[in-house]
Amino acid sequence: MPRFSFDLDALREHLPDKLYQRGEGYAEGGRVTVIGQHGGRVVAQIDGESGQHTVEVNEADVTDAVCSCPAFDDWGLCKHMAALAIVANALDAEAADEARGRLARLEQALEMEGAEALAARLVALAKAYPEVLDALQS
Ligand SMILES: [Zn+2]
Repeated sequence: MPRFSFDLDALREHLPDKLYQRGEGYAEGGRVTVIGQHGGRVVAQIDGESGQHTVEVNEADVTDAVCSCPAFDDWGLCKHMAALAIVANALDAEAADEARGRLARLEQALEMEGAEALAARLVALAKAYPEVLDALQS
């Protein structure tokens, strides 16, 4: 599979200049971790000013996006969209290939585990990561 090729010009048109520029700052600052691709969108974790955010942007249509940050809730746009696209485009072919398949492979493996094994894994994750506990309880 080729590298990621988000249309950064389309994203620049979609986002106000300040948001795009702040997204560039996040990308350059190493605050973006590309997790994988799921349901047509690329998923990344952002080390934000107010905590961790999960942002998802469709590679084929940069206006198709969601983010867990407060700005996205208010405006339907955020700097994290630009940060994800810039960092994803900078991945080499091998890293992009790994990212594209990672979540699909995980999903397939989890589907084969069965409910009891999944429950045990989730409880272990909730013990290790309080934010997982909170997320599972909400
Ligand atoms: Zn955001």
